[in-house]
Amino acid sequence: MPISDLEAHVAPVVAEVRERIAAARARGGHGQDVTLIAVTKTHGPEAVMAAWQAGITDVGENRVQEAEAKMAQIAVPVRWHLIGHLQRNKARNAARFDLVHSLDSERLAVALDDAAGEAQRVLEVLVQVNVSGESTKSGFALHDLPGVAERLHGCRHLCVRGIMTMAPFDAEEAVLRTVFGGARDARTLLQAGGHPADWLSMGMSGDYEVAVEEGATHVRLGTMLFGGRT
Ligand SMILES: *Cc1c(COP(=O)(O)O)cnc(C)c1O
Repeated sequence: MPISDLEAHVAPVVAEVRERIAAARARGGHGQDVTLIAVTKTHGPEAVMAAWQAGITDVGENRVQEAEAKMAQIAVPVRWHLIGHLQRNKARNAARFDLVHSLDSERLAVALDDAAGEAQRVLEVLVQVNVSGESTKSGFALHDLPGVAERLHGCRHLCVRGIMTMAPFDAEEAVLRTVFGGARDARTLLQAGGHPADWLSMGMSGDYEVAVEEGATHVRLGTMLFGGRT
């Protein structure tokens, strides 16, 4: 799409999504702030700019290399979120992001901690949990969390801000609520383990309203904003 068409498409969708988020937040009663992350994977830098023009300040990408190419072309100060699985040999590049949602192993935590230390910064991360136990999804099991929370204190350059999870695709509402409720429990375990873990990144195009009802602080929307990916 030409950039002006893309902007004309995205702005009203963002307005409607924000209304739906506000309504879901009121229904859920958790009282949280909700950050809308525009997931621009597979789309060009013009998608980032269209989101920015619509008032979005947070952008999510799955792959480090694709994100770096876009970062080089974007001059406005969006916050960059890494939401996809990260290989340890890319940890150094991941230290450029503002928030890494996909901390899914202790070995990756050590690699990210080293990378953040080299970059002389503290990197904010979310611990990914696999509540449903699907073998295709990465992330810790709930019962891993107390031990993980304790050992993450050894990563001096990481700041553990909360939990990220993904629900099964096309799940029915009861399953979604179980998964999102499990993510809330995981957050409680991090907090009990002494981390400033207020955030819950959950909810995609198909399930973000239920996620916000269940307390999501960050929703990650791609298809809803930009249409299908080819
Ligand atoms: C692609 C992706 C999204 C966005 O998915 P949509 O269904 O297009 O909104 C959100 N989170 C993660 C981890 C993703 O990989």
